[in-house]
Amino acid sequence: MRRTRIIATLGPATDSPEMIGRLIDAGMNVARLNMSHSTAEWVHRVIHDIRAEARRRNVSVGIMMDTQGPSIRTGNVPNPIDLKPGEKFTFTVGGEQGEPGRSVDVNYENIVNDLNIGDMVLVDNGEIRLRVSGKYERKIECEVLTPGKLGSHRHINLPGVKISLPALTPKDLEDVQLGLEAGVDFIALSFVREAKDLRQLRYHIASSKFKPLVIAKIEHQLAVNNLLEIIREADIIMVARGDLGVECPYEELPIIQRRAVKQCLQVGRPVIVATHMLESMIGNPMPTRAEITDVANAVFEQADAIMLSGETTVGRYPLQCLEVFDKIARRIERSGGANYHDRAELTSPRQKLVKSAVVMAEDLKAAAIVVFTIRGNMARHTASMRPRHSRIYAVCESRVIADSLSLNWGVRAVVCPFNHELPEKTISSALRALVTAGLLKTGEVVVIISSISAEEQIVDAVQMRKI
Ligand code: PEP
Repeated sequence: MRRTRIIATLGPATDSPEMIGRLIDAGMNVARLNMSHSTAEWVHRVIHDIRAEARRRNVSVGIMMDTQGPSIRTGNVPNPIDLKPGEKFTFTVGGEQGEPGRSVDVNYENIVNDLNIGDMVLVDNGEIRLRVSGKYERKIECEVLTPGKLGSHRHINLPGVKISLPALTPKDLEDVQLGLEAGVDFIALSFVREAKDLRQLRYHIASSKFKPLVIAKIEHQLAVNNLLEIIREADIIMVARGDLGVECPYEELPIIQRRAVKQCLQVGRPVIVATHMLESMIGNPMPTRAEITDVANAVFEQADAIMLSGETTVGRYPLQCLEVFDKIARRIERSGGANYHDRAELTSPRQKLVKSAVVMAEDLKAAAIVVFTIRGNMARHTASMRPRHSRIYAVCESRVIADSLSLNWGVRAVVCPFNHELPEKTISSALRALVTAGLLKTGEVVVIISSISAEEQIVDAVQMRKI
């Protein structure tokens, strides 16, 4: 069993029921929907297809809605504009007319106040670089530093500039509503700057029937500055290296990744490493040596999940990318080379109970830790201890909770009915189901963590059994 979870972003290359089924068969644990490029109609259709294909296979597949966030974009450019070093180029706001072919309107009026002469403007993930040379009431004049073709709706980064856009834009709020109605398992908030941004999202989730987990995307210098408070506030962290590598000096990126993963492990927060992991496979069937090592590094660091973006949305080899992720993750996990010292500091009494169960399981070399969990928390605590030998099976009453565990390191969730009058019956029938499914074998030793309600109370217990 692979412990590192795989997230694949869906897009034109992968949005048919058949392709979604093949991605699940190839090991996709979570499907990501990028709201920068998605319509409501597509979201409804694709969520229906993911749920149907997962149910058909009786597996848990989580669905992540990734918001666009307060992103600055170029307006309509009828013909892509060729930019050459040394040329002048103008960004206008509010529909101000600029010189045709030498200017573009942007969707953020305050850009003229936020930018100063000498600041950098980066377009298309930093491929095109410009420097501000003049500031006017409704336009910013720049000098082109690196060449490129500027098109419509291109993403603009202003590194080091404190922009005054809200944490959740009107588009984000509409998308969050759509995600809540459709019952997504995770909502990723883009360009989080401080913990308060996440509390705004939680406010909107509070009154919803579905309660998706909140993912904080670390992709801005301010998020790096406020990392620990964001990790504590979020349910999950994503190291979103695409924008992060543009907003911060690129040589800082490996240090930020390592620090974020380490702090998440210490706090017991799941962490995703994302973007450009197999970028060259958008056009080629094989990864580069550097990409193989990058993926392996995230597995060595013990990230919970690794993520594919362009590779599975527009790439020519989406299934091969899954295969490469799967192969590398299994191999690195088998090598035992990972650093196992950074286990979470579990502090509450329930967390301490989990900690002692994991220590016992490791001591006994138990085949598995079987966690009976109502809201998924005990299974999450178990995963954050990163047991080295024992597999983690989370037994859940509901499919919704099972799906919410789809990106936790090492967790395989199974759905079984709970008998709240006779919890012991729940345990014996779940163990039988695990044996029938081939997940446990006769003679194996398991450690059981049960958090099952009995007499209107949640009773936590640990026991050891031989199957
Ligand atoms: C990233 O920037 O790395 C990222 C995951 O976000 P997006 O794909 O939305 O730009």
